[in-house]
Amino acid sequence: MLQADYSLRKYNTFGFDVRARIGCLIRSEADFISLRADRHIVEMPRIVLGSGSNVVFTRDFDGLALVMDLRGRRIVSQTNDAYLVEVAAGERWHDFVNWTLQQGMPGLENLALIPGTVGGAPVQNIGAYGLELVERFESLRALDMIDGRIIELDAQACEFGYRDSIFKRVTRNQLIILSVVFRLPKRWCARKAYADVSSRLAVSKISEPTARQIFDVITAIRREKLPDHTVLGNAGSFFKNPIITNEQFSVLQKKEPDIVFHIQHDGRVKLSAGWMIDRCGWKGRSIGTAAVHKNQSLVLVNYGGATGEQVVALAQEIRADVSQRFSVKLDIEPLVI
Ligand SMILES: Cc1cc2nc3c(=O)[nH]c(=O)nc-3n(C[C@H](O)[C@H](O)[C@H](O)COP(=O)(O)OP(=O)(O)OC[C@H]3O[C@@H](n4cnc5c(N)ncnc54)[C@H](O)[C@@H]3O)c2cc1C
Repeated sequence: MLQADYSLRKYNTFGFDVRARIGCLIRSEADFISLRADRHIVEMPRIVLGSGSNVVFTRDFDGLALVMDLRGRRIVSQTNDAYLVEVAAGERWHDFVNWTLQQGMPGLENLALIPGTVGGAPVQNIGAYGLELVERFESLRALDMIDGRIIELDAQACEFGYRDSIFKRVTRNQLIILSVVFRLPKRWCARKAYADVSSRLAVSKISEPTARQIFDVITAIRREKLPDHTVLGNAGSFFKNPIITNEQFSVLQKKEPDIVFHIQHDGRVKLSAGWMIDRCGWKGRSIGTAAVHKNQSLVLVNYGGATGEQVVALAQEIRADVSQRFSVKLDIEPLVI
């Protein structure tokens, strides 16, 4: 089960050729019992990995890499309003979304084609095309690697935020997500306000789309807009869209009248990181084989042979330029090791 000098190449979507001191593919929850029996293993630095689609390795990992491959999905129960569906952490996210639609349970279609596993999805509260995971989340089960207890956490305990949760902060690599329960509404209503989605539907003359049609439209848009990480290494958006106060925004908008923004529920203003990176002239530029994607300024790519260090160095140059021009700090979205 434990393997020394474990290659992580296929467990990071940048395709970096890095290794962990020890690696372990977790196929059953019982695997943790034997792992926890070894104090040396429990005390080692550890990283939990799903598909590595939100991780940047800048070096080998001198510790234990746990690769989650737990499988299984089931309808737990249903009420008048919703289906409750439980799915194991190692299931592919996109396959799970597809399966829910096959079962006649819409609600997750806007999150189609996001790479990664179900267990990785709550960690950054994945979101796309007008929907965030938290809106369909009921609870999750997690193993505490320190004391071996399995606990259940609801949305409040997970402290979900914009591309954020407790798992990115306090409990990183301590709480291991084993399975997630989703609440899928029976009175489903299409989320189609996102500009790309509504215009595609309009072109196809679809005014009352089914969940499957939304799934298909979003899958098609993503295939066109985003590089396929199996062909061109990347981790999706490399930066979060920054959120600033209304006062900061008023000052900024005077300087940059055409700046792209969205007002948030709490009155703060979310800026488009991609737009700002474009304005700084970074689209398509590269340092060696680490580059800003030619169509998507938010996505940094590995044209082959780049290292994590080079990608992070590129990101730092972009951040410096954005900070200088807009006085805005860009936060890096993936976990940098
Ligand atoms: C092309 C592309 C497009 C993307 N598009 C989007 C998008 O639209 N929206 C979006 O939100 N994200 C997007 N992402 C980012 C990424 O796909 C998601 O964050 C995904 O949920 C990560 O899942 P993973 O299994 O690959 O996690 P990993 O990358 O393996 O891990 C990410 C983090 O989660 C932790 N983790 C993973 N599994 C567990 C577990 N079982 N228990 C505890 N911690 C765990 C890891 O330790 C790490 O901190 C995109 C990525 C790519 C490559």
